[in-house]
Amino acid sequence: MQFDAVFDIDKVVSRKPDMWRYREALPVNDDAGIVSFGEGFTPLLEFRLKGYDVLIKQDHIFPSGSYKDRGSSLLISQAKSLGITRVVEDSSGNAGASIAAYCARAGIACEIYVPESTSPAKVYQIEAYGARLTRVTGSREDTARAALEAGAETYYASHCWNPFFIHGTKTFAFEICEQLGWRSPDAVVLPAGNGTLLLGAYLGFSELKQANIIADLPRLIAVQASNCAPLHEAFRTQSDEIPRIKAGNTIAEGIAVAEPVRGRQIIEAVRNSGGDIIAVGEDEIKDALAEMWHMGFFIEPTASATIAGLTRYLDQASRDEMVVSTFTGHGLKTVVK
Ligand SMILES: *Cc1c(COP(=O)(O)O)cnc(C)c1O
Repeated sequence: MQFDAVFDIDKVVSRKPDMWRYREALPVNDDAGIVSFGEGFTPLLEFRLKGYDVLIKQDHIFPSGSYKDRGSSLLISQAKSLGITRVVEDSSGNAGASIAAYCARAGIACEIYVPESTSPAKVYQIEAYGARLTRVTGSREDTARAALEAGAETYYASHCWNPFFIHGTKTFAFEICEQLGWRSPDAVVLPAGNGTLLLGAYLGFSELKQANIIADLPRLIAVQASNCAPLHEAFRTQSDEIPRIKAGNTIAEGIAVAEPVRGRQIIEAVRNSGGDIIAVGEDEIKDALAEMWHMGFFIEPTASATIAGLTRYLDQASRDEMVVSTFTGHGLKTVVK
């Protein structure tokens, strides 16, 4: 998709603190179509971890409880501008809940396909918004295929395929730069399943560089769960093909993606930024989760995988590096027994 982002910083700073303050950089044709809950501009909070001061973007406090709202607000705004009245989406939970919330706000009918293994709280949330829910037996990929077939007759509002979603998640990069006084950090530690936040961050930082607002891209450090880490494997072996892996179980259900559809793009983004891909084990994820909870941050297990990756990254970081990471999802979304 060809789109030239424009930044008018005087205008941006005079607007409300939400993601739509970067209006000229967001490809929605028609202001009247904008579907928003006033989301975004989440706090960039500093705290100490392993002796480092790190900055964590609080994206678990979005209206539906995950950063996916950045993408959904943009995607459903575009759908509304186009006069679309019905959409279909597949998700392991959070993207479905997010799309369902924005469809409820927009008055668009919504059908969400989820794998049978999805957390009960996420399923409940999707149904609460009034979306029609279909549970699919089999893998995450079987769910995507079922939605794609259904989407042939409606609008496939896929957070993985639809480029508008990524144009929403790029606001993550804009906000970080603005909150740092219009400069980029040295490194950003992000989750990578389908890479919807990572690819958005890459696009956002690239657009800021293109506009001469920042000099360099930050290194993008992608985190996967070891039990389902095809991107880590491809990166490690310097392969351009995403290997077929035998995925094991992980409590980081939101990044358990064995066949990432934009896998090659993710690897290219990480490479171009001079970054790395880290895989973390289940014990590391659980430890990071407990540590965050005890510090007062109620995040979901998937979100703690990124923090486990951050902890690992700090082992090798230099003392003066500015490192940013994020909490991607709220703890209320999962029931941990
Ligand atoms: C979606 C999601 C991720 C990862 O996103 P990908 O697009 O699959 O890389 C991470 N954490 C949470 C809580 C999510 O909902």
